[in-house]
Amino acid sequence: MANLIDHWIGGANAESTPQRTGDVFDPATGQVRDRVAFAEASDVDTAVASAAEAFKSWRRTSLSRRTNVLFAFRELLNRHAGELAEIITAEHGKVVPDAAGEVQRGLENVEYACGIPNLLKGGFSENASTGVDVHSVHQPLGVAGVISPFNFPAMVPLWFVPTAIACGNTVVLKPSEKDPSAAMFIAQLWREAGLPDGVLNVVHGDKVAVDAVLGHRDVKAVSFVGSTPIARYVYETATGNGKRVQALGGAKNHMVVLPDADLDLAADAAVSAGFGSAGERCMAVSAVVAVDPVGDELVTKIAERMAKLDIGDGRRGSDMGPLVTAAHRDRVTSYVEAGERSGAELVVDGRGVRVDGAEDGFWLGPTLFDHVGTDMSIYTDEIFGPVLSVLRAPTYEHALKVLDDNPYGNGTAVFTENGGAARQFCEEVEVGMVGVNVPIPVPVSYYSFGGWKDSLFGDSHAYGPDGVHFYTRTKAITTRWPDPSHGGVNLGFPQND
Ligand code: NAD
Repeated sequence: MANLIDHWIGGANAESTPQRTGDVFDPATGQVRDRVAFAEASDVDTAVASAAEAFKSWRRTSLSRRTNVLFAFRELLNRHAGELAEIITAEHGKVVPDAAGEVQRGLENVEYACGIPNLLKGGFSENASTGVDVHSVHQPLGVAGVISPFNFPAMVPLWFVPTAIACGNTVVLKPSEKDPSAAMFIAQLWREAGLPDGVLNVVHGDKVAVDAVLGHRDVKAVSFVGSTPIARYVYETATGNGKRVQALGGAKNHMVVLPDADLDLAADAAVSAGFGSAGERCMAVSAVVAVDPVGDELVTKIAERMAKLDIGDGRRGSDMGPLVTAAHRDRVTSYVEAGERSGAELVVDGRGVRVDGAEDGFWLGPTLFDHVGTDMSIYTDEIFGPVLSVLRAPTYEHALKVLDDNPYGNGTAVFTENGGAARQFCEEVEVGMVGVNVPIPVPVSYYSFGGWKDSLFGDSHAYGPDGVHFYTRTKAITTRWPDPSHGGVNLGFPQND
């Protein structure tokens, strides 16, 4: 009987007897590792009640005590980073060094949140009116819901939870049901770091749990990361229920290669960012736009590099692991079939890849299409797998128009040795995160992360300064202390003098 991964409420396993559960697989073997509890609305109620109760004292806990917890958590996360990476790989399938990288990028956000006393400073104006001072404070919102996707089971929760908590909020986290153990491990580290029970709760499950979070009266804010249709649904539903929402959606990230680019550098980047984590990254490169005349040479260089990739179990030193589930692998494979039918040139076919001793794993090898058209489904849809499309563009202007016409605007990169061209691209492109001669960049923690267009619904990006802004509301306080020179009734509208 598989182990049950239970909810984490009030600083302990909920000891629930769930009506529904889901299978959690080891994608490299195809075997079920564990079952995960699926929350009903009543389980979410219990978690929100725990968070609402904890909020009463956590919001008043001094900045110095909050910071002590953050520093302790930072140390623990650092110490257990290797263990967490193994947990991620076991359920997600990405190779261990990649999982370790995800933990490091999450850790950055903890370090940013350690500076919360400075980040929460308000303003003060002495003598705004004679003898009257005005100051502002940033106060927490209450219970925040965090709903995260499967592809970064540690990093995405760490984008939100440290900042939310540092600002004085309490959290109900609903991680992906496909790889829930990283969130549980992180919750236990928070407890060990001294976070009071109930400040962070974890509920597992599917749409039932998400809907209960979106509709709960005591949830004041929702941070969501996932696919665009669900992000749009979460944004519309939760804002309709009066909540503050940031909902980050899917992506189709273009890498534009200009004629003067270093093609070896560009090919390295296309392969790294196209096939890292088997293409299951919101910042994966999925479309390379080669500006004439570099297309043929670039495709040759990309294919050469792909031939050297070792596909296998992420715990055994391979370059690329399996996809997360059989259903997802089959969906990605169906796009490869659709690409062939639509007339794109299949340069490298990843179907039929075999991994000795792990035949039941959810494998699909790296796949490359050339001469892809903007009307083909391999281009229009986010595939979220190891399928890279190359489009040809006669000019820079044509390449830019391809990006402009695409509904997504998460990340992009331009490869060129011309500073003026790079600068023009950065200024003109309608995309939230831009790289120059680097594959699609995830901004460091002291900037914020967020796409444009259909890649983000709401007006706050994740973590960094936007994160602090999102998880607080500002109060302006006008103060006058008794002064014998002032007094008397005046029904006129208050003015400054
Ligand atoms: P998903 O949209 O299927 O699921 C995300 C979360 O929503 C999960 O917790 C899931 O349980 C829940 N969910 C799923 N279906 C739901 C429904 N019908 N109603 C309510 N909730 C539902 O996404 P995924 O497959 O887990 O993750 C991959 C997607 O996430 C990709 O589209 C990827 O681009 C995107 N993503 C975006 C970013 C970003 O920063 N923009 C980062 C990582 C992943």
